[in-house]
Amino acid sequence: MTGQQQRIVVLGAGYAGLSAARRLASKARDAAITVVDTRAEFVERVRLHQAAAGQSIGRWDLRELLERKGAEFVRARVTELDPDAKQVRLDGEWTIGYDTLVYALGSAADRTSVPGVADYAHSVATPEDVRALPAGPVIVVGAGSTGIELAAELAESHRDSQVTLLGSEEPGGWLSARAVEHIRSGLTALGVEIRSGVKVAEVLPGGVRLVDGTVVPAAAVVWTAGFTVPALARRAGLAVDEQGRIRTDETLRSVSHPDIYAAGDAALIDGPGGRPLRMACATALPTGSYVARAIVTRARGTEPEPMTFRYHLQCISLGRRDAVIQFLDADDTPATRVLRGRTGAWVKERIVRFAGSAAGMR
Ligand SMILES: Cc1cc2nc3c(=O)[nH]c(=O)nc-3n(C[C@H](O)[C@H](O)[C@H](O)COP(=O)(O)OP(=O)(O)OC[C@H]3O[C@@H](n4cnc5c(N)ncnc54)[C@H](O)[C@@H]3O)c2cc1C
Repeated sequence: MTGQQQRIVVLGAGYAGLSAARRLASKARDAAITVVDTRAEFVERVRLHQAAAGQSIGRWDLRELLERKGAEFVRARVTELDPDAKQVRLDGEWTIGYDTLVYALGSAADRTSVPGVADYAHSVATPEDVRALPAGPVIVVGAGSTGIELAAELAESHRDSQVTLLGSEEPGGWLSARAVEHIRSGLTALGVEIRSGVKVAEVLPGGVRLVDGTVVPAAAVVWTAGFTVPALARRAGLAVDEQGRIRTDETLRSVSHPDIYAAGDAALIDGPGGRPLRMACATALPTGSYVARAIVTRARGTEPEPMTFRYHLQCISLGRRDAVIQFLDADDTPATRVLRGRTGAWVKERIVRFAGSAAGMR
């Protein structure tokens, strides 16, 4: 773009949006970069299970952080996207225009798939969701990474409360046999009761009802089974998948609206073996950074190389002193190599800290 200043607007200041904004601010010095988020602070989302267990986690002032990097910060909720007018509508009824948009609005808990979740279940998907749990037995629903990490953290911090991890699959069942075995023994050592092969039909004020009719009582139910993304892209007529994630080409542009790029949880991006990249911080950081590179390259009149990406590790903490680090092959299948115990916990902690610095926090 020549003659006039390019206006780049980044929606969302999570891991993806911040990694894009940070790189844009340093490489696209002629452009005006604006970042929009409803929150005043960046909160480490990958530590929300720790926050739910009563630990304090890092918070950084977004305005200060972004202005230090040379980007403008607007604290507002994005309410509508108008790709024809190239405008974003914010609450308070005002709009901002863009030449290039980065859509990085992330994800939240899916509270609609099972009755009672919206009314009675807690969640740890966003900072706003995390609230003190009442004393007494806790059921964590969902045996994916978030459910495993949360059950372990709660059991370690609240030794007197019974924690039950409920899920249709074996915890970590997608990993190698060594990792699955260690997750089971680590959780059991912390006192977590594991109930696999069960499905929740309804969340009740004091527990859950399973599909076979059994009622499992609890003082609190925490829902970690499923995430959803904002409906803005779908409402705006962009090409999205059934969840509402923006369909992207090999340079992470929307396939229907090429002046819009997408990164992180809200983007549908082809990964190893033709499968979509996971909703993970491990995806959000490199995709945010790649988007910034692609925008800068195109602004200089060159076509960017397609994004290439593979995962090397998957890390699951089991409290503060144990974790499983699963090495992955290039096709994203679990390798035999696994780190466990204190070494695993050390590696996981370093990776979480690195993620914070990569997003610009340290
Ligand atoms: C408890 C927990 C533990 C996790 N642990 C790991 C882990 O160990 N490793 C890993 O790789 N991943 C982990 N994840 C997943 C990881 O946190 C997400 O994949 C990652 O945060 C996605 O980054 P993002 O930038 O796409 O979205 P987000 O981090 O969700 O950021 C999106 C931003 O958009 C803003 N926003 C949303 N809607 C609007 C709107 N309408 N207007 C304005 N702003 C808006 C939000 O306020 C937010 O700041 C974990 C998740 C949870 C919940």
